[in-house]
Formats: sequence, C-alpha cells, structure tokens
Amino acid sequence: MACEHVDVLIVGAGLSGVGAACHLRRTCPDKTYAVLEARDAIGGTWDLFRYPGVRSDSDMFTLGYSFKPWTNPRAIADGESIRAYVRDTAHEYGVDRHIRFHHRVLAARWDSATARWTVRAHRDDTGEDVTVTCGFLFVCSGYYRYDAGYTPDLPGVDSYTGRLVHPQHWPADLDHTGARVVVVGSGATAVTLVPALARRAAHVTMLQRSPTYVIALPSRDVLADALRRWLPAKAAYPVVRWKNVLLGTANFQLSRRAPTLVKRFLRRAAAGRLPAGYDVDRHFSPRYDPWDQRLCVAPDGDLFAAVGTGRADVVTDRIDTFTPTGIRLASGVELTADVVVTATGLDLLALGGMTLTVDGRDVDLGATVAYKGMMLSQVPNFAMTIGYTNASWTLKADLVATYVCRLLRHLDATGQQVVTPLAPTGGPLEPIIDLKAGYVLRSVDALPKQGASAPWRLHQNYVRDVLLMRHGRLTDAGVRFSRAPQASPTQRRDPAHPAGSGVG
Ligand SMILES: Cc1cc2nc3c(=O)[nH]c(=O)nc-3n(C[C@H](O)[C@H](O)[C@H](O)COP(=O)(O)OP(=O)(O)OC[C@H]3O[C@@H](n4cnc5c(N)ncnc54)[C@H](O)[C@@H]3O)c2cc1C
Repeated sequence: MACEHVDVLIVGAGLSGVGAACHLRRTCPDKTYAVLEARDAIGGTWDLFRYPGVRSDSDMFTLGYSFKPWTNPRAIADGESIRAYVRDTAHEYGVDRHIRFHHRVLAARWDSATARWTVRAHRDDTGEDVTVTCGFLFVCSGYYRYDAGYTPDLPGVDSYTGRLVHPQHWPADLDHTGARVVVVGSGATAVTLVPALARRAAHVTMLQRSPTYVIALPSRDVLADALRRWLPAKAAYPVVRWKNVLLGTANFQLSRRAPTLVKRFLRRAAAGRLPAGYDVDRHFSPRYDPWDQRLCVAPDGDLFAAVGTGRADVVTDRIDTFTPTGIRLASGVELTADVVVTATGLDLLALGGMTLTVDGRDVDLGATVAYKGMMLSQVPNFAMTIGYTNASWTLKADLVATYVCRLLRHLDATGQQVVTPLAPTGGPLEPIIDLKAGYVLRSVDALPKQGASAPWRLHQNYVRDVLLMRHGRLTDAGVRFSRAPQASPTQRRDPAHPAGSGVG
C-alpha cells in the first residue's frame, strides 16, 4: 500500500477544491499539498451536469474567484464556460499537476500524538486502496451525492413507455427535437431546462406541486460592460463584484425584513412578463417567504418568454399516476409526454460520504457544531467548505480558504501544530443549512449543527464574514491551539524558517 505525506490534503477538485489549492499556492507556497478527486475531471458540479441550458443562477462576478477575474461578457454563464474557467484557473496556478483523479476518499483517522490524519481513498481505475497522511485535512466535496439524484416515489412509473430522465445524468443521445416533454419540478434546474428544451421540443410542460419565486434578471451586467471598455479586468472585476455583493445583501435583508413588500414586487414583475389574464397567483406565487428557499433566476426572462409564446406552460397540480403515455394528474387532466424529466432535486451528502475518526472515536457528524461555518467541534486540523445559501457559493469558499491559510501560518509562526474547535457552552442548536427546501429537510439530522452566537453561528452575510474571516482574530474562547507530543522535527518548524515538509 503506497503512503505519502503532504502538509494539506484537499478532497475534491470542484470550484471549491481548485480555489482552495490556488489560495494555498498564493499565500502558503511552502506548504505541500495534493487534491484527491473521485471523478476523472476538474469542475465538480460544472462538469457533472450536462442537461440542455445548464448555467449558473448567480452572477459570475461573485461565483468567480476573488483572485481570478471573470472576463466573459455573460454575467449568468453556461456550464461549459464555468467548467473552462475552473480548469483554466487550475492550470494557471499549477494546481492541475497536484490532482489525483479516480481517488474517492472513504475515511480519515486523526492521531493527536503525531498530529496527523491518515486518509484512505479507493482508486476506481486500478481497484486499489491508497493511504495518504497529512497535517491538515480540507474537505471541498460539495454538498450532494454524485452517483444519483433525488427521485421521489412516482406512482405507476413502471407503466410509462416514454423516456424518463434525471437531469443529473442527462443521456448524451437524447434528441428532444419535436418531442412533447414534461419537466417535473419547480427548482432552479426546472426553471433552466424548460426554456432551453422549448427551443426544439414540440411543447414543454413544467409540472410543479407548488410554485417557486422566479425573477427575471439581465444575463449581462451593464456596469461590467461599461467598465470593461475603460479599465483592465483586474481593476473592473472587484468593483462589479462588490456592487453585486451589496445588491444581493440588500435584496436578502429586504426580503427578511419586509417579505410582503418583496412578495408583491416579485409577483408584479412576473405578471408584467406573462400574457394578460395569466393565473400568476396559481403558478408563480409561492406560499413561503422569499429566501426561505433560493430564488430562481430567469436570465432575460427566458422562462416567461417561453410561456408567453405558448412553447411552454406551467401546470400546478399533483401526480395521480404515470400512464403508458404520460402522467395523469390529481385534477384528472392527462399530460402526454415522449420524455419526462424528473427535475426533483439532489440528495445531500456531507463530506462526500467519508467517515472521520479522532483518536479512535468515530465522529458523529450530526452531533458536531460548526465553528465559523467551516470547522467542526472536537475535530482537529480540519476544515470544510459549505457555501452561502443566500449568495454565491464561491464568496464563502474564498473566505474559508483564506482562513485556513491564516490558521496554517499562525501555527507555523507560534511553533504549534494543532488547532481544535471546542464546543459551544450552551444555547440552542440549529441545522447548519437554514433553507426549508426539501433536499435540506430530508437530511438535516445527518448534518453538523450551528450554535446561537459567534463563533458558532453562520451569519450568511458576506460583509460580516469578510471582517470575521479575513481580518478577525484567530484565537478566541471557541478554539484551542496546541503542540503535538510526538510531532516530527519537520512539523516543529522554526518559526523563522518555515520550510515545507514531506512530498507531494
Ligand atoms: C445545477 C447546479 C447549479 C448551481 N448553480 C449555482 C449558482 O448559480 N450559484 C451558486 O452559488 N451555487 C450554485 N450551485 C451550487 C454549486 O454546487 C456550487 O456553486 C459549487 O459548484 C460547489 O463547488 P464545490 O467544489 O464545493 O462542490 P462540487 O462542485 O460538488 O465539487 C465537489 C467535488 O468533490 C468531489 N468529491 C466528492 N466527494 C468526494 C470524495 N469522497 N472523495 C474525493 N472526491 C470527492 C466530487 O467528485 C466533485 O468533483 C449549483 C449546483 C447545481 C447542482
């Protein structure tokens, strides 16, 4: 069994893992690192999802990395452009040379005496198990299962003779030209798919149990277009990024403080883009408040336009049963379909399914509390990236990576090897993800919790987190820094000469 040692081991080569590695290269160039990736490609989400029209919901000025300007004129970008951006970034920073593909991490064991993680991964290309040791484990495995999406019980589905497809595994050979398509679902994926499919299909129906908030936004950014003419990308990018951060934060805060006002605004905006007499309340006015679930974006109003032209429609009803030719609804209406797409969501998976053991004790993830939204109580030298639910994922991923680099430098500077979050001293605990979406509620018990106050509370507020994570103190009552009894000479660095250790 091969065994090597690196200072930092990153799990996952998606947007977060590649970003984490770039941050290490930029601010801790003496650290050795490797990235273990289960699949055979860089990009995670943006490589896996291949359904027609796949794109971001967020603007790329905030979904992009802080250190790598997004220069494509489209602010809401297609999956292929995002994949290329992540790959280019990995190449530019030499991160691609450190990625080990086909390595699915299964388990990690922490030993306090030596201050090391022993990480076991399975190689699906050779069938062997590989062991790597590291001083710091940084998990960037995203938040959902890759092998299967979520599909609820679909009564009578076995009798259906058409094509049944889940967007997470879009068949490359599926030609929907001239087909009658039903998309089951009302989340971001359904809202993306419906107008994209409607361009070539005979007709597309979005079948939803209940409505979602959909807001039309321009796919280009006027300020970015203007600045691009006058300023170099490196100067224009942070301006547009901060403009979008502040607008997004204001939008979220207003939704929380004056939900009725925002509801009314969203309803009026949708009605203005739909044909006269359209039943907006039935199909586009959810029962929940804005931001109880993520808002869906229709770039340039594409979904409303598809409904307006009659190429697509929205049906709000319940499935009674699948039939050989389509779906019969609770209302008795029958939808005929050559293709049914189950855009019914994802299955949450914490830490990419890996298990953690600390000094022989199995870590029960559901019983841990997240420290600053990125480390776990009683789990030493460990961080994970979970992005914002109310803003772009990468805003938080960048801050988490920055904070990890600060921690590593602090350990070196103080001649210590271990950083361990303790546990909150009381107060109520809540789920770490505060959305009321079905995919969160289904898995909430298995996820880490958050506490009532800092540093155990997630604020879902980028400006506050910048102050906390980029500039805030590293030492507080919630965390302990210490020396390892049996640290190796390379781990016990002379703070004046922090040279790298190990291979990798
Ligand atoms: C269709 C879709 C659209 C989205 N749009 C947006 C958006 O517009 N804005 C936004 O903010 N967020 C969006 N998200 C959320 C999105 O997942 C994040 O934006 C971001 O891509 C997450 O990056 P990540 O690297 O953390 O995770 P992922 O992209 O999920 O990448 C994780 C990587 O880790 C690997 N991995 C997992 N487990 C293991 C393991 N045990 N061992 C080794 N490797 C492992 C995976 O193979 C994968 O490559 C979207 C999600 C989906 C599904």
